Amino acid sequence: MTAQPVVIITGASSGVGLWTAKALADRGWLVIMACRDLAKAKAAAADVGIPETARRILHIDLGSQASVRAFAQEFHGLGLPLDALLLNAAVYLPRATEPVRSPEGYEISVATNYFGHFLLAHLLIDDLKAASGRHGGPARLITLGTVTANSEEFGGKVPIPAPADLGDLAGLAAGFQAPIGMIDGKPFKPGKAYKDSKLACMIMNREFHKRWGSTGVVFNTLYPGCVADTPLFRHTPPAFQKIFPWFQKNITKGYVSQPLAGERTAQVIADPAFAAQSGVHWSWGNRQKEGREAFAQKLSVRGTNDARNERLWDLTVKAVGLGKR
Ligand code: NAP
Repeated sequence: MTAQPVVIITGASSGVGLWTAKALADRGWLVIMACRDLAKAKAAAADVGIPETARRILHIDLGSQASVRAFAQEFHGLGLPLDALLLNAAVYLPRATEPVRSPEGYEISVATNYFGHFLLAHLLIDDLKAASGRHGGPARLITLGTVTANSEEFGGKVPIPAPADLGDLAGLAAGFQAPIGMIDGKPFKPGKAYKDSKLACMIMNREFHKRWGSTGVVFNTLYPGCVADTPLFRHTPPAFQKIFPWFQKNITKGYVSQPLAGERTAQVIADPAFAAQSGVHWSWGNRQKEGREAFAQKLSVRGTNDARNERLWDLTVKAVGLGKR
């Protein structure tokens, strides 16, 4: 068993995940890059200077539950400990005119960003519990949240196409299969489907903390800032891809570079200062200021209704084929 700290990062082939992998490799961690395109991940790791000895690349397609289960099995076959799991991968399809379906028949952004991570976290939670304390601190399950999923913040109130809102979970309760494309069962809005998936991830974190926060594992989410030039926005109109980074740099001042976003995420995973609290959503604010410290950002009522959150958990357990948790 390696003495090195080990982290799994989903979606480490670009953007925040790639730069977090780089920052942790530079700190001496062994990084398991969990990616759907192995050749792309290998080239990306070389581009940013992650040495081969500091990383392994394993296949996962988070939109497919069979693939998530195969990944967990492959990881377990390596016999490695797991000190941290970063749930980072995401797909954003704002121009989809109807739901794209996962192999299980679910709308793809919820299936990938939320269901796939929910399943993966359950398949690896015992590894995190077992590794906790190995390096004198807790193991950590960290998830990328976002400002647009939190209506407590200005960015979360933007009505284009609509703020994140899981409603009464009617779509999920009805099985979330075609023609249903939204968790709330209402007409399909692709941009909102993405925001809803991120809100569901932030709720998932609160529920993990509630259920397993006493097991020595720390459960947190974070918003690293607006990383407006990552490939996440590749499916937006070309004009948006030009204007959005400029707007975030010059008008809102919310822009954060990919290396800085990776560094912030690495801090939440590795630094002792971020291990003292669990169940927290870390943020550096929406207007970037040099030297600003991270703080625990309050979540809106859309993410803190305990009864609805528990129901979301139970319905998701069913959707991903897990036994009662
Ligand atoms: P990105 O560069 O597009 O990275 C997304 C990663 O997810 C890529 O590696 C992508 O792989 C992977 N991925 C997508 N679908 C997948 C699937 N089915 N299976 C496995 N991997 C898959 O975007 P990013 O901006 O860095 O986003 C990373 C995280 O940060 C997301 O959770 C996002 O919600 C969050 N976030 C981003 C911002 C921002 O401003 N960019 C702000 C707040 C939060 P491929 O390379 O194969 O496509």
